[in-house]
Amino acid sequence: MICVCRDISRRNKKMHWKKLFNPNYLGAYAFETGEEKPVTISSIKEEEVTSTEGKKENCLVCTFKEPEKPLILNKTNCKTIEKLYNEPDIDQWPGKGIILYVAKVKAFGELTDAVRIRSVKPFLCSACGGIITGCKNKTHAEIYELTRKKYGKALCPACATKAAQKEEKKDTH
Ligand SMILES: [Zn+2]
Repeated sequence: MICVCRDISRRNKKMHWKKLFNPNYLGAYAFETGEEKPVTISSIKEEEVTSTEGKKENCLVCTFKEPEKPLILNKTNCKTIEKLYNEPDIDQWPGKGIILYVAKVKAFGELTDAVRIRSVKPFLCSACGGIITGCKNKTHAEIYELTRKKYGKALCPACATKAAQKEEKKDTH
């Protein structure tokens, strides 16, 4: 398979103890240091969530098109999505792209890591209209820059792969 990032060797992945946790929902543990995850909202629904202390609570749970675990949306993150798309109606959120990252937030007087949503929209692919995600060891921002330089337009990893295959065919014939 041809990929725009084939020339980049795999980064050594360390096994942080936090990664051994396997809760049902997305959390800071699922992010590399400084990582951003551009994702497409697939559904938003109210669900009963049982906390690690066994407390049951109704939460707003967001699932994604990409293979990420569902994220429990707090008020801060809901407000960010509303502002990003000027849309308070959660039924209109599926299909929209957001960028997840980990922020240090103060909770009960202590700094903890929490999943937050960037106040900018993800880059969109000019071929398929989908969001531009990262690819192996390239970030979404790097894919955006690289494809604009190489193909003159921003492409998602899948469309960049197609474009690379086309170029390779041109070279051999
Ligand atoms: Zn695309």
